[in-house]
Amino acid sequence: MLTKNSNSIAEGLKRLISDEQVLSSKEEITVYEQDATNSKISKKSPDAIVFPKTIVDVQTVLRYASKRNIPVVCRGAGTNLVGGCLTDFGGIVLNFSKMTRIYNLNETDMTVKVEAGVVLGDLLKETEKVGLFFPVDPSNMAVSTIGGAIAQSSGGAKTFKYGTIKDYILGLKVVTADGEIINTGSDTMKNSTGYHLEQLFVGSEGTLGVVVEATLKLIPKPQARRVIMAYFDYVSDAVNSVNEIIKAKLVPSAIEFMDKNSLISVENYNPNGLLTDKEAALIIETDGSDLDLQEEKIVSCLNSLNAVGIKIAKTEDEIENIWKSRRASFAAAAKIAPDVMTEDVIVPRSKLPDLVLGVREICEKYNLKVCMIGHVGDGNLHPQIVLNMEDDVQFKNYMSAKGEIYKLTNSLGGILSAEHGIGSDKSAYMYDVIDKNLLLYMKKMKNMFDPNNILNPGKVFIDK
Ligand SMILES: Cc1cc2nc3c(=O)[nH]c(=O)nc-3n(C[C@H](O)[C@H](O)[C@H](O)COP(=O)(O)OP(=O)(O)OC[C@H]3O[C@@H](n4cnc5c(N)ncnc54)[C@H](O)[C@@H]3O)c2cc1C
Repeated sequence: MLTKNSNSIAEGLKRLISDEQVLSSKEEITVYEQDATNSKISKKSPDAIVFPKTIVDVQTVLRYASKRNIPVVCRGAGTNLVGGCLTDFGGIVLNFSKMTRIYNLNETDMTVKVEAGVVLGDLLKETEKVGLFFPVDPSNMAVSTIGGAIAQSSGGAKTFKYGTIKDYILGLKVVTADGEIINTGSDTMKNSTGYHLEQLFVGSEGTLGVVVEATLKLIPKPQARRVIMAYFDYVSDAVNSVNEIIKAKLVPSAIEFMDKNSLISVENYNPNGLLTDKEAALIIETDGSDLDLQEEKIVSCLNSLNAVGIKIAKTEDEIENIWKSRRASFAAAAKIAPDVMTEDVIVPRSKLPDLVLGVREICEKYNLKVCMIGHVGDGNLHPQIVLNMEDDVQFKNYMSAKGEIYKLTNSLGGILSAEHGIGSDKSAYMYDVIDKNLLLYMKKMKNMFDPNNILNPGKVFIDK
């Protein structure tokens, strides 16, 4: 990929959109060489950072870039964990922090339109004001954006009951590599009018087009919620009780897991009375109107698998106090060692005990410390491996463990990413898990939308 020198790219852009929307000095662009992916730094610095304010600005940048074959990397909050915003080939970073309009919030249609830079937590607050609800809640929803969440096919704790972001997308406005606009989907609840291209852009990680606006489906805000936290002396009891709850046909809004190492690290980081001598804990949220009945049935499932220390939170303060510990897990793990590598594997729920115990064994074999959390109601586990990547032995062990975790996941009928995406971090492993023909068609699609490979090059798949 050839790029012109940084100065001429920035100067060229400044002639087309206002000066204050373009950054290019060394000091300004340095922070864009990284995202939240631990210890990954771009092989090349970006040439310019552009803050579009309108869709026309985005079109202008893409027309400029496509004529000159300059890479374009979109950036929301930069919180992805797979090196998705790295600029390994230089080029232009499109920063969406100035496109944050929430509009057409329609109580009858139960829909809303948002620009790509809207923060998920802000959208939730706006919808709740009118008794509506947008349930997509990655743990870092206080900062992550709609554009980033769509591009990564994000989920969160409430996926078990409410699904992921893909389930709330009615329509998208997308700017193509050459600056054209595609309006996909509709403002309606149903649409059987041709191909659903809007879903094609979900999880496309900025490699097929630039999402500038979304029409989202909303649901009524649940009347009330309650949280149950329970501890276990055996990991297998914790995980098996998830399956008991599911077999009892209960549908909690969230079923979350923390293992002993994460209980200890969170309690050390932010003391909250967690039982750190236990092997595992579950956090189960229920919502709706029959909370007493749900609570009774869930507690019975938990007791049948020897749960202890059961705590029930009914007020918002009590509920948030429990969630505070779960949400602190990433920051707490980061206190243990210089680097935290968060995996995102998922298996069919019935195979979850094998996955949890298998990941533990693999990490023990390679002498690596792992704090495990997960959206276990979905079968999704986030092993957080804490290490020093500059220590050659630890790094080598981590790479071996990572490969074995993916192999184990695959052998259990699972897949290597549930909600974090592939980025540059997992692209080499795509070949082991994706059907060869499917990969071929994915590449054909990429070639059709972006023949010159300017959109987020080097992400999702590498050439082999
Ligand atoms: C502490 C922590 C907790 C997390 N918890 C969860 C969780 O519970 N569930 C979950 O799913 N994820 C989670 N994540 C991962 C991450 O937050 C999500 O992937 C997030 O939604 C990304 O949003 P972002 O705005 O930061 O995107 P970015 O990191 O800025 O971008 C992500 C990708 O999207 C592309 N992109 C961004 N904007 C656009 C656009 N407008 N058009 C096209 N492409 C675009 C980027 O190029 C990049 O490839 C967590 C991350 C952290 C650090």
